[in-house]
Amino acid sequence: MKKKLESTDCPLCNSGRRTNFLTGKDYLYSLESFVIAKCLHCGALYTNPRVIENEIGAYYQNDYKPFLAKTVKSTALGKLRSAIGSMLGGSQNILLKVLSAHKVETVLDVGAGSGQLLEVFANRGISGVGVELNHQCVQSIRKRGLECYEGDLENSMQELSGHCFDAVVMIHVFEHLYSPIEVLRFAEQLLSPNGILYIEVPDAASLEAQLFKGYWRGYELPRHILHYNKSMIEDLLNKNGFMIIETNNVSLPSSLVESVGFLMFKSNKMPEWMYYCLFYFWKVFQFLLKPLIGTSSIAITASKLKALDER
Ligand SMILES: [Zn+2]
Repeated sequence: MKKKLESTDCPLCNSGRRTNFLTGKDYLYSLESFVIAKCLHCGALYTNPRVIENEIGAYYQNDYKPFLAKTVKSTALGKLRSAIGSMLGGSQNILLKVLSAHKVETVLDVGAGSGQLLEVFANRGISGVGVELNHQCVQSIRKRGLECYEGDLENSMQELSGHCFDAVVMIHVFEHLYSPIEVLRFAEQLLSPNGILYIEVPDAASLEAQLFKGYWRGYELPRHILHYNKSMIEDLLNKNGFMIIETNNVSLPSSLVESVGFLMFKSNKMPEWMYYCLFYFWKVFQFLLKPLIGTSSIAITASKLKALDER
């Protein structure tokens, strides 16, 4: 699978001064090794050398989890599981709370994946539009009567030009971007004056990342181009026209379980029974330990600086 690699300067500050931070592997698919560099100027962690942008698609296979549609279960068991999920502060629950606090009625979901969030929005009367690179995902989203543009945000800008959104959300998408600063600019253009930007990313400064090192699920080499932590992403947003409203810790039990799998099996081959035993065990314990050890993901809510000037 080895594709063309390129050496790059820091994608956030353009400095070429760096040191090697760690070496990890693509445990999901290719088992190829990649290096994460640390910028000696701004401290950013970034994959270097990285796969060139127009070949990275080969590292996303059709069974990539975010592409798989999860059916919203209406059975009693399904409802119970979703209620427990909400109680334990999962990703979706935190996002919905933030959207509701900001009275959001229209959302752009960048990197909509299977369209699961768009479905959740539709069920709650929130008008959602998706942008997604994977052709099959876009087809499946449209078949369900939901609105989605195929491509990245840049090449969807023309179609989106008439739109104005109360929120732009990127759930585990931002770390995949080759030009995050450019994408922030597009997001800013698409937001209403009081609109909010909501970005969830793995936290490379989390205890989990420090413990698992090259086996940490959140590095997801070579698909993750930048490896953010709280101060790195807050600085980036502050410097690019946004003001931080809040940063939440988000529980993502699958991150720890898959990291354990990578460490034990040196691949993505953990038996399913083991996965689910560990998953539910960790889901409960992570919730209890959250105040002590934090979480493996963070979600940043920010508003446009211009909106504040106008107040
Ligand atoms: Zn830098």
